[in-house]
Amino acid sequence: MKKFIGLGDMSKVNCSSVLNVIREAKEISRKEISDETGLSWGGMTKIVNRLFEKGYIKEEKSTTTVGAGRTPGVITICKDYNVVIGLDINREGLVACVLNLAGDVIKEYSSEVKCETKEELLQSIISFTSVVVKEHNAMNILAVGVAMQGIVDAEKGVSIEFPGCKDWKNVPIREILVNHFYYPVFVEHDPNCMLYSAIYKNPAENSVLFRIDRSIGMAVTIDGKILEGNGLLEVAHNIIVPGGRECMCGKRGCVESYLRPCLINEELQENAVNEMVKVIPVLMYNMAQVFNATKIILTGKLIGYRDRFEDKLLEEFYQYCSSDKIKVEFMEETKKVVYGAAMIAVRGAIDSIEV
Ligand SMILES: [Zn+2]
Repeated sequence: MKKFIGLGDMSKVNCSSVLNVIREAKEISRKEISDETGLSWGGMTKIVNRLFEKGYIKEEKSTTTVGAGRTPGVITICKDYNVVIGLDINREGLVACVLNLAGDVIKEYSSEVKCETKEELLQSIISFTSVVVKEHNAMNILAVGVAMQGIVDAEKGVSIEFPGCKDWKNVPIREILVNHFYYPVFVEHDPNCMLYSAIYKNPAENSVLFRIDRSIGMAVTIDGKILEGNGLLEVAHNIIVPGGRECMCGKRGCVESYLRPCLINEELQENAVNEMVKVIPVLMYNMAQVFNATKIILTGKLIGYRDRFEDKLLEEFYQYCSSDKIKVEFMEETKKVVYGAAMIAVRGAIDSIEV
């Protein structure tokens, strides 16, 4: 079953949509919120009043009066006290950020990770998160958003597989973190977090994002909404070269088998890269066709070295396209995943408010 997340589903305008509108505007009146969201005056008032009661927003008298009588109030987000934590759990390392409801990053953290075994990885995650939580326990931590690499069941909060971690199978990571830290936890697949950080304010056309390091993750937006589906968007082991390179999964010619050898000890391996730039464009083209996408976003550690292969990669890609209707964009991955995870925590926390 597929479901969509993200701002844009106006049939269900909710607290987080209202908060997004206030965040983007920085200062806004009740009338403007009602206009922007399409909510009735009554519907808007209910949500704004709840956000106000919770201390997430504040309203001040405007200095300008409009006509006679009513002075419109100016609504802004309270930046102090309420925060969320974003976590990016990646075999390259752990990253965290603490964010206020205005979307400002208050503090960032990073750490190495041990992920050979389930026990090591869990230990790494918990001790890293403990440091972040401890330093902010004077504030009101509303929720934790977790970006997980591998295969994720976001709805159940289960990390089904984590690359390179042998005995990591169906780990109920949400439950583990809730039981340890007592905050609401939201788990998402890492490319979705990155895409969420890119689209929550700019809903766009259909787009496909690839996060490329030693493996590859994919996220898709359709009409500006993120497409979710467990196991639906796994492309790492798509066989793209029949009888090709041997892959860790035991098959031959998977996409991942062409990525794994590209970067060894932070050194780009030229021969491997020359093979990779022929393989990845095939996948890019195929997925753009499947999802009728007009935008492809490439990001991830390997893409950080793109000045060494960007021209070849684009040349290969556009030879398959009959027009240049599909745009290819490169996105720096720094902080996008963890920021997206934190924004997902904001959305989750705010939407759980009963109106
Ligand atoms: Zn494979």
